[in-house]
Amino acid sequence: RRRELLAGFQGPGRTADGHPVSLLVNLGAPHELAGAAAADAEGVGLFRTEFLFLDRAEAPGLAEQAAAYRKTFAAFAGRRVVVRTLDAGADKPLPFVLSADEQNPALGVRGLRSAVRDPQLLETQLAAIAEAARDSTAQVWVMAPMVSVPREAAEFAARARAHGLPMAGAMIEVPAAALRADRLAESCDFFSVGTNDLAQYAFAADRTLGDLAELLDPWQPALLELVATAARSAAGHGRPIGVCGEAAADPALALVLVGLGITSLSAAPVSLPGLRAALAAHTLAQCRELAGLALLADDAATARAEVMSRMSER
Ligand code: PEP
Ligand code: MG
Repeated sequence: RRRELLAGFQGPGRTADGHPVSLLVNLGAPHELAGAAAADAEGVGLFRTEFLFLDRAEAPGLAEQAAAYRKTFAAFAGRRVVVRTLDAGADKPLPFVLSADEQNPALGVRGLRSAVRDPQLLETQLAAIAEAARDSTAQVWVMAPMVSVPREAAEFAARARAHGLPMAGAMIEVPAAALRADRLAESCDFFSVGTNDLAQYAFAADRTLGDLAELLDPWQPALLELVATAARSAAGHGRPIGVCGEAAADPALALVLVGLGITSLSAAPVSLPGLRAALAAHTLAQCRELAGLALLADDAATARAEVMSRMSER
């Protein structure tokens, strides 16, 4: 009885009918590590590694990186840690990676693309992650940001495997990758949807502009359609597919995402109890019904209103 009562408030994420949904934390800076590790989470769904590279004249070397990764893996011993390789870009400027003379940096050589210009950067990072992973019981997965075409995912996965890293995946944050996730799945072991960038690129709306918040609303049915497409492809190949963008932090939207086929949610530690409770109160069939309502809506506000109203009927 006590276990039943607590089921909605702690432990692994599950729907009311027992369908598992992994609840994971996002981690982006060393000062967040203790709080993230203390959270009731199955691990880290998005370990942003940019902090290691910011405010410096050149990239950190292998030993320095390995030491930082080791600390994180030790804090998550026995749990999963999904490490995202360096994602330099318009919103994460790094002078030694990015070229200063791009007119549209959000559309430029960013994310995994910077590995083409400077292959050694990714090589060193993968080597450091692999070295730290060897000394740890954490299940270390690696994923690449800003993958657009299957070849990029395949090359990244091959490089990760060459370093002995068994799980290599791609972020789905460019519409082209969502549309062709079935092809990406041939080389990727898993996916993680970055709804912040996926919204930016789907709506041609700069994610840093508050004026465009309505277009960037993660309830936008077109965004959900892209998530649904990617989730269907992932399921077809038996690949897990998480969401690690802001959308995953909204409990009602999280139910919709699960209804679309998302298998894990990664968010800030404070968001996890609300997500866990929402999942525990709804069956998978109910999540699918909510997802159907959201997809049918004409705009984000209507999608949200329809879903909230159906939830409150229960
Ligand atoms: C995203 O784009 O949704 C994401 C999770 O990555 P970031 O916010 O670091 O670009
Ligand atoms: Mg992103």
